[in-house]
Amino acid sequence: MSENKDPHVAQVAQGVKFVYDFTEGNKDLKDLLGGKGANLAEMTNLGLPVPPGFTITTEACKVYLDSGEEPAALRDEVSAHLDALEQKMGKRLGQADDPLLVSVRSGAKFSMPGMMDTVLNIGLSDKSVQGLAKQAGDDRFAWDSYRRLIQMFGKTVLGVDGDLFEDALEAAKAAKKVTVDTDLEAGDLKKLVTKFKKIVKAEAGREFPQDPREQMDLAIKAVFDSWNGDRAKLYRRQERIPHDLGTAVNVCSMVFGNLGPDSGTGVAFTRDPASGHQGVYGDYLQNAQGEDVVAGIRNTVPLAELERIDKKSYDQLMRIMETLETHYKDLCDIEFTIERGQLWMLQTRVGKRTAGAAFRIATQLVDQGLITEAEALQRVTGAQLAQLMFPRFDEDAKVEQLGRGIAASPGAAVGKAVFDSYTAIKWSRSGEKVILIRRETNPDDLDGMIAAEGILTSRGGKTSHAAVVARGMGKTCVCGAEDLEVDTKRRRLTVNGTVVEEGDVVSIDGSTGKVYLGEVPVVPSPVVEYFEGRMHAGADDADELVQAVHRIMAFADGKRRLRVRANADNAEDALRARRFGAQGIGLCRTEHMFLGERREMVEKLILADTDAEREDALKELLPLQKADFVELFEAMDGLPVTVRLLDPPLHEFLPDITELSVRVALAESRKDHNENDLRLLQAVHRLHEQNPMLGLRGVRLGLVIPGLFTMQVRAIAEAAAERRGAKGDPRAEIMIPLVGTVQELEIVREEADQVIAEVEAATGTDLKLAIGTMIELPRAAVTAGQIAEAAEFFSFGTNDLTQTVWGFSRDDVEASFFTAYLEKGIFGVSPFETIDRDGVGALVRGAVEAGRATRPGIKLGVCGEHGGDPESVHFFHEVGLDYVSCSPFRIPVARLEAGRAASQAQGSDHR
Ligand code: ADP
Ligand code: MG
Ligand code: MG
Repeated sequence: MSENKDPHVAQVAQGVKFVYDFTEGNKDLKDLLGGKGANLAEMTNLGLPVPPGFTITTEACKVYLDSGEEPAALRDEVSAHLDALEQKMGKRLGQADDPLLVSVRSGAKFSMPGMMDTVLNIGLSDKSVQGLAKQAGDDRFAWDSYRRLIQMFGKTVLGVDGDLFEDALEAAKAAKKVTVDTDLEAGDLKKLVTKFKKIVKAEAGREFPQDPREQMDLAIKAVFDSWNGDRAKLYRRQERIPHDLGTAVNVCSMVFGNLGPDSGTGVAFTRDPASGHQGVYGDYLQNAQGEDVVAGIRNTVPLAELERIDKKSYDQLMRIMETLETHYKDLCDIEFTIERGQLWMLQTRVGKRTAGAAFRIATQLVDQGLITEAEALQRVTGAQLAQLMFPRFDEDAKVEQLGRGIAASPGAAVGKAVFDSYTAIKWSRSGEKVILIRRETNPDDLDGMIAAEGILTSRGGKTSHAAVVARGMGKTCVCGAEDLEVDTKRRRLTVNGTVVEEGDVVSIDGSTGKVYLGEVPVVPSPVVEYFEGRMHAGADDADELVQAVHRIMAFADGKRRLRVRANADNAEDALRARRFGAQGIGLCRTEHMFLGERREMVEKLILADTDAEREDALKELLPLQKADFVELFEAMDGLPVTVRLLDPPLHEFLPDITELSVRVALAESRKDHNENDLRLLQAVHRLHEQNPMLGLRGVRLGLVIPGLFTMQVRAIAEAAAERRGAKGDPRAEIMIPLVGTVQELEIVREEADQVIAEVEAATGTDLKLAIGTMIELPRAAVTAGQIAEAAEFFSFGTNDLTQTVWGFSRDDVEASFFTAYLEKGIFGVSPFETIDRDGVGALVRGAVEAGRATRPGIKLGVCGEHGGDPESVHFFHEVGLDYVSCSPFRIPVARLEAGRAASQAQGSDHR
């Protein structure tokens, strides 16, 4: 390669630096140093005891990934830093009589599965292991460290199957008739090293490298390479993490927790990640190194025990935890090691926590004066709030846990175990609650999944068929519970000797992934009790969690610009929505008003041969519709109610084609034929559509069935007039679905205006009814500027818009191929869950601008399910909608996220 083509040359010329000593970085340099490196530097500069070391930047990794070679200057820079480290430590890497040892640790900006595991004890060799033993005065320790190095290096750097080492270790323990690794003595470990080296030679086709610098360089390169490992790539695609960030590499001088009983290693949290309470939370393991403490090789002790084991280190650790919490202003999780009574900090980061703890911690930190309320609002999410709203299993109940899988779709479900869809349907039809248990589900299981209370599988992850479809249906699901052996043929599952037969009751928790035998009692969520008004945040005995939620919600409401409405079709839902904080109804579907006993009238309407027949049918429907609206307007008095005129295809109101054909055929054979059934069958055939989603529905119905839409408009107008007469304050808005072009809207609108004028004249009231449209077809979005001429408001129907923009029907694709798409990372989340910003979102954005250009005061909202999805709410805030509308249950989530979006935007304005 010619010198000046090397991309690194340019960077060096610009003074780019590839290696940072821990003393040089800080916590805000995560892009450059990765999360682990940035926090190691931060702790170093706080004066905490961090073993010295340095971080190779993500920039170096990027050059390597781009060019396939490490930047030429990197080697020199690493040498210089290693040199400085050696000076500081007073020994050289791998020095035969007194070796400096280091760990090589990966660490990207975001912590990522698939990145290379840490290699500890780099610098040990056949020679330096003797030196280490002599220095420490402990042969066992030195050989234990060496065997660990060969094991970790062999596995992660040289790609040797880790089981081979584990098996050899087990064999060594068995030969000695001991059960724990600490019972192996120096001689045993020495033999194990020989064995391990043989394994490396045989599997990797090379000797375990004896040159310490070569060990270090190979490990660094392996970290770089792991950025492009399959698992890491898939994870990034799914999480939408850019592929070009690269990872940093941390080289850290070793400290030893495996030097005997006065040494050890542990993990700790500055607060309880489950409750948020301050206290002593963590685990400690004596005479252990690295991951031992979490790997479960020996029993750990609770951190509080450390006070007894080593009071001095314990006290110091408590002080450090306080320092960290005050400094990071958040719950931190940490890794530490004690080497012969000397405490060392090896890692810290802002710790993960449960949903409940997130709310509690946020308000606790406000009360401690560490963060502002605005910051507290950013510490919680709508997803966490949603989790807190699911009913859950009674924590005090006596339970028998069968196993645990992946928490794929939240909720608490109880039912009888069934192992096939057919039984699920059959039993649920006779009123039984069932849990559908499968090894994994496929599209054939769809009806069974619908019939079940919950779904449990023993295979597959968060993007498996079961998980995706269950989430789409809002149904509880635990998947990938691998301990369960599901035998669908014998209709039973076995786990640790327990057998669950078909019909036995099981309980599954989709929020934790836990599976129980028997019926676990379900308790309502206190947070829902609070929203329902059955529990008061101000009460003396109020739940701490409820108080925290109350405070944060109040703050969010004060911040948000977006209004939040509900999708609700009846007074009951409307009232609940109001209690949950809805500021109106964004979508009242009218189709349910055509079902039940009213179906007959609809049949009459569809079968009508003459205008008179049709008018009769409509006349019968009118008072019923009106009564529905009166109730709804009363429930939402003073708040806007958007009523959508009839949307679904007509065949949905007619009998099923097969059932009807059978009925007609049977009657025929008995020679008693029913005129009405025959006509119905004809109508069903006539209305049968290949693709009903794209057929005769929405505004098209209004245009081809004379009087249908005007009847609905009249019912709305008369209901509003009646409410006015009763001194109410009805605020109805009439919404036309599935408009593709302004002409459609104009025709419907003209007729509607006329009906409204008639009702106004007859009742002597000015009804102020707004007429607007849904924007749910690409053509509507693209011509929104024209459509706004005839529409006083737009409501984005993002469900249909997503279907029509992508060209797929939700019911079909979610069950059939979404799993594959998610697994391939084509999208990280279903576009029906979170709005597809680049496609569907771009159309929304364009329509918002065009609509406002035509009609500056146009009211803009969204009524697709995305209105209750956290990420989508942020998008709708950004594009400047006036409101989002979602199912009553999602309203608190939308309120919270709307507040977060507004507060975030303010935050960045200040900067
Ligand atoms: P992860 O990213 O999985 O947390 P780490 O780099 O933190 O990996 O290292 C894995 C384990 O090795 C941790 O328990 C860590 O504390 C320990 N470890 C890392 N570096 C050192 C070191 N220099 N001395 C002692 N233990 C270390
Ligand atoms: Mg770690
Ligand atoms: Mg629609």
